[in-house]
Amino acid sequence: MSERFDAAALRAQFPVLAQSVRGKPLAYLDNGATTQKPQVVIDAVTHFYAHDNANIHRAVHTLGERATAGYEGARVTVQRFLNARSEREIVFTRGTTEGINLVANSFLRPRLQPGDEILVTGMEHHANLVPWHLACAATGAQMRHVPLKDDGSLDLDTLPGLLTERTRLFAFTAVSNALGTVNPVAQLVALAHARGIPVLVDAAQAVAHLPAHELDVQALDCDFLVFSGHKIYGPTGIGVLYGKRSHLDAMPPWQGGGDMIREVFLDRSTFAEAPSRFEAGTPPIAEAIGLGAALTWFMALDRTAALAHEDALLARATEALRALPGVRIIGTAPRKVSVLSFVLDYAHPHDAGTFFDFEGVAVRAGHHCAQPVMARFGVPATLRATFAPYNTDADVEALLRAIARVHKTFTD
Ligand code: PLP
Repeated sequence: MSERFDAAALRAQFPVLAQSVRGKPLAYLDNGATTQKPQVVIDAVTHFYAHDNANIHRAVHTLGERATAGYEGARVTVQRFLNARSEREIVFTRGTTEGINLVANSFLRPRLQPGDEILVTGMEHHANLVPWHLACAATGAQMRHVPLKDDGSLDLDTLPGLLTERTRLFAFTAVSNALGTVNPVAQLVALAHARGIPVLVDAAQAVAHLPAHELDVQALDCDFLVFSGHKIYGPTGIGVLYGKRSHLDAMPPWQGGGDMIREVFLDRSTFAEAPSRFEAGTPPIAEAIGLGAALTWFMALDRTAALAHEDALLARATEALRALPGVRIIGTAPRKVSVLSFVLDYAHPHDAGTFFDFEGVAVRAGHHCAQPVMARFGVPATLRATFAPYNTDADVEALLRAIARVHKTFTD
């Protein structure tokens, strides 16, 4: 464990972690699915409902002004977090999934012709596949993908041949949720841009696990970047689409309704500028404020020390699992964060995951919304432990105890 980093003190900020499950201390290792929330985030949401609740943008009264200031203040916090040029490049969405659907429908579909190509990678979450499949089905465009090597890293040698004059977008994850692989985002963006191809970065898994300079949208020069609040200590139901101003200004609305218009007549309407143009209807106001609180909290952490601690836990757990009989780790790329995916040759992941719960250990068992990854590695599902800075050596030990229990139960 890092000497500079006090994981126990950090953990104490998360009330949910202080409980027992089935009589055992909770070892929450499902952070890739969703992270727990520190008290400051819970307080920010509670405070909003207890003191400031009102609809935004329209109200002339005090509560409406406070709610609007909270919501727009959160946008500025996101802008700082991503180092975007302007808060007008920050669109609030319901999450990563909605952000990708927005880009698929508003940016990409109008540009697609039969035979055009959308490039992804072999490690994408379904959220970064299905919206493009729908766009292809509607337009006659086709999917291409960058294949994976046996260690779960991208086969970059194939990339030059896949970025063609037909490629209309390269959409890839910064970090694989099923393998933990960290992709060389800046390099991928540069290669695509060298051929004039715009890029969308799925940062759902990256936001809570990469250093700030690797999420700096100006440094990366990505065209779009999406993430979900709930994976970075914020509420569910809120996410972010970052888009370069030149793109957002040129994109038509995707959903119509209140708050995204300039003028409405009975037979036609004109639209507000970005980002309002993409935020039809009453948005998740408390959730946006909660996300702002989460990012403020996260940016105030000693991020280098917190991530080093998390990396050390991943390394320790990986080393321990390597030494166990009948355990196969899926995803052994040279650079990984947070995710330890594995299969046991003596128990199905779902059965094992249920037994883990008896030890108070919460992991994911399944295909992790990444069926093509499972197919690539010839497994139906994996067990997946995902680490956050509030995890401790005790959580790793609980995981090892849980595996030992499953081993005993299924092999005795
Ligand atoms: N992309 C990746 C890499 C993910 O891990 C996830 C969620 O697990 C998503 C996209 C979808 O995120 P959400 O369900 O919050 O929209």
